[in-house]
Amino acid sequence: MSYQITRDYIKKGKARSGQKIEKVRAAVAHDTGNPGSTAYNNRDYFNNHQPSASAHTFIDDKYILEIVPLNEKAWHVRYTKPNDNRLFGDDANDCMIGTELCYGGSINFGEAYKRYVWYHAYLCKKFDLDPKKEIVAHATLDPQRRSDPHNALNKHGITWDQFINDVVKTMNGSSKTINRKEQVKSEVVKNPTITDKKGYIDNFQKWLNNNYRTELVVDGLFGAKTKKAAIKGLQTELNLQFRAKLVIDGIWGSKTKSEIRTVSRGAVGDITRIIQGMLYCLGYDPKGFDGIFGNGCYYAVRTFQGDKNLTVDGICGKNTFETLFK
Ligand SMILES: [Zn+2]
Repeated sequence: MSYQITRDYIKKGKARSGQKIEKVRAAVAHDTGNPGSTAYNNRDYFNNHQPSASAHTFIDDKYILEIVPLNEKAWHVRYTKPNDNRLFGDDANDCMIGTELCYGGSINFGEAYKRYVWYHAYLCKKFDLDPKKEIVAHATLDPQRRSDPHNALNKHGITWDQFINDVVKTMNGSSKTINRKEQVKSEVVKNPTITDKKGYIDNFQKWLNNNYRTELVVDGLFGAKTKKAAIKGLQTELNLQFRAKLVIDGIWGSKTKSEIRTVSRGAVGDITRIIQGMLYCLGYDPKGFDGIFGNGCYYAVRTFQGDKNLTVDGICGKNTFETLFK
């Protein structure tokens, strides 16, 4: 089982200083202490209120949501506490990733817990941490004030040792699902400059699922999985329309490139629709997702080509396709 990581960072401010972590030495496991608040509830709070506190990642039954980049400091442990320095030689905020488990209310604990375990295994792989020594509970660092994440875990009958064992099991059992390279593919980067208020990316994902059985999560977030599904759609269409005999693997390669037919103003069909969908995903506005290559699509392609230093002609040829999909 592999999960998707959503990166939707809060703006800079008190909660996100932008100061860099030099080396990640440990991961601090927290719970929010606020039953029923979801990952996005927390993101909204930290983004809008900018308290002098934060954590890198919030996890509920739907999202593994990174709100502060992992190479920046977040403020999840008090600076005056001695245990972090004793155990790791530095203040926690300066060298540790803080992850918060969301629980209670309508949050499905089992689903949230699986993601929490998986994400800690992911952190251990990513930063070469020993889960038995270098995942530490907030309560261990600040026992006078904090009881997390034992508070949330114990409510559901899970001890700290069980949690760590589950992380170890996930790491051992799934070199496939958490190998670093593979995981990069399943990370979603939500670029805050690209807004999808009208649901175009949602529509594109639904349409890909319906037409090419791609089984995407319809979340309106563009990432590697959506791109792969779009390439599968394109390969399918090239096979159907032009007998291209491509392997439908969702990977852009020289064979797929060689089978590309030029698409330009006046074209109608599903390849145009895939172009329109990709333009939306990349932050351009072709003025419709209708499979008709009209003026809106033409000008969006021109803008895209200009941004990418391609020949600006509003025509989708091999190089423009390659830049859309690579
Ligand atoms: Zn905490």
